[in-house]
Amino acid sequence: MSSNQGFLFNAPGGPYARIALDTPVRREFSYRIPPSFGSVEVGCRVRVPFGTRDLVGVVVGTDPHLPPDLDPRRIRDIRILLDETPLLTGALVRLARHIADTTFCSWGQALSAMMPAALRKDRPRRTIPTVEVISIPEGESLEELERKFPKQEKALAWLAKAGGPVGVREFCSRTGLSRSPLNTLAKKGWVRFDRRREFYDPFAGKASTPDTPPELTSQQKLCVDSICMGLDTREHADYLLYGITGSGKTEVYLRALERCLEQGRGAIILVPEIALTPQTVSRFRARCSEIAVLHSGLTDAERHDQWVALREGRLRVVVGARSALFAPVPDLGLIVVDEEHESSFRQESTPRYHARNVARERARLEGAVCVLGSATPSLESWVSANRGELKRLDLPERVAGGKLPPVQVVDMRVEKPDKKHWLVVSDPLRRAMEESFSRDEQAILFLNRRGFAPAWHCRACGETVKCKGCDIALTYHRWREKALCHFCMQEFPLPQSCPSCSEDISLVGVGTERAELTIQRMFPDIRIARMDRDTMVRRESYEELLADFGAGKYDILLGTQMVAKGLDFPNVTLVGVLDADTALHHPDFRAAERCFDLIAQVSGRAGRSSKGGQVVVQSWIPEHAAIRHAAHHDFIGFADVEMKERREFGYPPFSSIVRVLIENTDRNKAEAAAKKAADSLLDIQAPGVRLLGPAPPPVEKLKNRWRRQILVKADNHQALRPLMPTLYALSEKCAVIHD
Ligand code: ADP
Ligand code: ZN
Ligand code: ZN
Repeated sequence: MSSNQGFLFNAPGGPYARIALDTPVRREFSYRIPPSFGSVEVGCRVRVPFGTRDLVGVVVGTDPHLPPDLDPRRIRDIRILLDETPLLTGALVRLARHIADTTFCSWGQALSAMMPAALRKDRPRRTIPTVEVISIPEGESLEELERKFPKQEKALAWLAKAGGPVGVREFCSRTGLSRSPLNTLAKKGWVRFDRRREFYDPFAGKASTPDTPPELTSQQKLCVDSICMGLDTREHADYLLYGITGSGKTEVYLRALERCLEQGRGAIILVPEIALTPQTVSRFRARCSEIAVLHSGLTDAERHDQWVALREGRLRVVVGARSALFAPVPDLGLIVVDEEHESSFRQESTPRYHARNVARERARLEGAVCVLGSATPSLESWVSANRGELKRLDLPERVAGGKLPPVQVVDMRVEKPDKKHWLVVSDPLRRAMEESFSRDEQAILFLNRRGFAPAWHCRACGETVKCKGCDIALTYHRWREKALCHFCMQEFPLPQSCPSCSEDISLVGVGTERAELTIQRMFPDIRIARMDRDTMVRRESYEELLADFGAGKYDILLGTQMVAKGLDFPNVTLVGVLDADTALHHPDFRAAERCFDLIAQVSGRAGRSSKGGQVVVQSWIPEHAAIRHAAHHDFIGFADVEMKERREFGYPPFSSIVRVLIENTDRNKAEAAAKKAADSLLDIQAPGVRLLGPAPPPVEKLKNRWRRQILVKADNHQALRPLMPTLYALSEKCAVIHD
């Protein structure tokens, strides 16, 4: 004891900083702040020694004295202070804590997910080399230059005229000279090289065309007024804008944005990655010039520049995908989550947050208004609105009296009861296509399965050919003549016979490749554009193909969910859903909701102009509530049925579910670890909580790892409380997923 106190006495004094590091360890680490640093604030990044490594972390707190449970001998110094002023605001640091608590990750992991990669790793800021004139030679030197070194003379004259630093690369391209005359001039002391920061501008050379805002419909006006009232109070408020496809939701966002900017505040507009097309962005640019864009197509450096432009207040609005939610928008007034029901707002890796939930929390922390918008709201938001937690605003009609297209459901069992299972186009759909093409109109066909055929099946023993590492059927990809696992992306040679009984095997089912081939045979003169992850490798190819389709270079746009969302082509009068049931086959309590959403969304692509339109939906289970209600564009009817089921079976939003997922390459070890985890949870008294499992999840093996799952089902979020510390501790060792 006394020796310890001696140490305390001798130990270098505080202050100390608590640092959140991007490690799975669920705690923060204390470091001493060297006196030379002056003050260190929450939200600054630092570089610290960690074991033998050197990590970038974020300051989440400071202490004048060391917390008593820590041994001062083991406290090391912060090595480098990377930000003089906090990179992350206090609100963002708190938001990260909220994410850590609700999604079971460490504070540091949550903070790390907020920052662009370039700042996470503390890469130096991007600069470009520049050159400028420092003195102009006179008299003889100048004459000599003109006589002997015309290139140097030309370079000097050009730079003198430029009148300031010019990028070296720009100099070369504009003058046609190489860098070597510059080098010589620099040696002679007449020009100087330097470096300058260059900011990425996603709109370089692309002027925006301001548009004239349309007169709002009376329904839109009610919505805008309500949101603006929320903005005017400058207090936090949540809205659910429930408006059918084409009802003018975007115009409502734009007006709310306008008010927010008038107040001198900034805004975040979140859209699903797939909807982040130039068309979407230009609609916002037409009304506001201060727009940053953040999406997965940008390089690290580009993301970094957009982020910094917001941080420094040079831009005030960001339009972006999921992670744009963490953008350092100054004085945040408004967050819009468009298509809030989209599953892409859920991040599937750590931290497993849902952008919709985090958006509401951020708006709460910053006193901002949050608007969730959808034609098919998530059940979570719908129930939340019913409970009065979200204020519901409705846009029940299409702008300018446009009508939602009639939907015909084709019962595939009746169509071809004895024929092969993979009928691609039924007679009613075929007739509708013929009519459309005869009028030179276009069609969108939706099939949410890529590849040629989704499985090889053995008729003799019932076996399906599976991936070597995963419990997943292999998909046949014809263009590569390969069998592909859609989970681990491993390719296998084509199987020749059944792996278990050696009998012949046959391909079953239809993917987009097979559909394309079949339809091309059916309509040899029709031009088909196929859009799926195999054909759309680059982001540009997606935009190009859409532009070509819009310009009438194709008659059919056939594809996976890439074609279901947000597209607006007036000449599309027919939408065909080739297999409406795909989404229903997933072992997930949200399967019906997803099926309904997809059909409703893709149906919304038809009849967007005065030409009208129709939708044909092919299903093997047309009596299913999701399909029946989607056929009548009846979200409310579907939501009623679905809410009843969820309540009855105890699924969210009427319960809170946490999945503990244990994985191991060794099956027995996975089982043992799962048993141990379950025991640690069973020890806790928690009324209103049921544990299910451990049991194998629907997919038992992935990437050579055996999986076991424990389901924690709680009556509500409060009931989970007693288990939280244990779940949080477990999440260091295995995936703990809050559904
Ligand atoms: P949603 O986002 O609900 O699908 P959009 O905002 O894309 O609908 O609106 C559909 C179309 O209607 C767009 O072309 C838009 O420019 C137009 N529009 C929206 N509001 C009005 C209005 N008040 N008057 C005329 N046209 C409008
Ligand atoms: Zn077999
Ligand atoms: Zn696999």
